[in-house]
Amino acid sequence: MKNIKMKSILKNLTFALMAIFLVACGNGTDTPEESNNDGEDTLHVISSFSILSDMVEKIGGDYVQVHNLVPIGTDPHDYEPLPEDIKAATDADLLFYNGLNLEGGEKGWFFRLINSVGQAEENIFEASEGVEPMYLADEEGKQEVNPHAYISPKVGIQMTENIRKALIQAMPENEEYFEQQAKEYLEHLEKIDADYTEKIDSIPEEDRAFIASEQAFQYMTAEYGLKEGYIWAIDTDENGTPEQIRNAVEFVNENQPNVLFVESNVDRRPMQTVSTETGVEIYERPIFSDEIGKPGEEGDSYTDFLEYNLDVIFNGLTK
Ligand SMILES: [Zn+2]
Repeated sequence: MKNIKMKSILKNLTFALMAIFLVACGNGTDTPEESNNDGEDTLHVISSFSILSDMVEKIGGDYVQVHNLVPIGTDPHDYEPLPEDIKAATDADLLFYNGLNLEGGEKGWFFRLINSVGQAEENIFEASEGVEPMYLADEEGKQEVNPHAYISPKVGIQMTENIRKALIQAMPENEEYFEQQAKEYLEHLEKIDADYTEKIDSIPEEDRAFIASEQAFQYMTAEYGLKEGYIWAIDTDENGTPEQIRNAVEFVNENQPNVLFVESNVDRRPMQTVSTETGVEIYERPIFSDEIGKPGEEGDSYTDFLEYNLDVIFNGLTK
């Protein structure tokens, strides 16, 4: 008798504990942060490389969660997606790529990824849509679109407008929010664009020769009136062949740039050779082309990247 009573008390206690446990769990899902930042209120976005990912994050603000594909320090022209990239691409509501051949075009790594997960075409946006392409000659002398348009703040303005349009299309109920975010971002870019014009205009004509390793600065140099030299046309070609070095040495001898620039993500040795052969030194600070700075370091957002580059260019050429 006593035993049976004890069993029933224990049974009741177990139910009571389970009930407390369930209530506690239920409460956890009701916290305000979670209902604001998760589920239907957030666009799950993937973006192909660090510069674009930062732009989408800044313009999308509270309503986007961005999965960046090509990590800083890795070449965006040729990338092998990881298992987590494939998962993110499968689950994404919105997918951004730079375009202008940065990701290798229709047959490149980005479209291979998208096609392999069967994403709907209406979710995919080219950030550089409508940008007037410029061309470079590849190893075989074939004309190819130069992907590095975003190095010019002018192009950044156009990309911002494209990103805004895509976000509004994907989440029309937050149109006003995205308009406001984009407006502030555009104001910052317009200020940077004006700074590029003003600072580069102030450099004497004979000091406006600019040379870096890759022909990545074409859009920016054409926009603001610098004369561009380079060692190789694009990172995916062979880098630093004797012929490429010879051409770069010729550019330096002819145009007498004040300094030589080296990008943050390339092998320094070819430019070192150009420096040794011409007696023109390499500027002490690297310049950015295909990536932003690591978090917490210089140039770790797109707008900082642009401001940093202008600072490097101006100080290098007027040194
Ligand atoms: Zn590049």
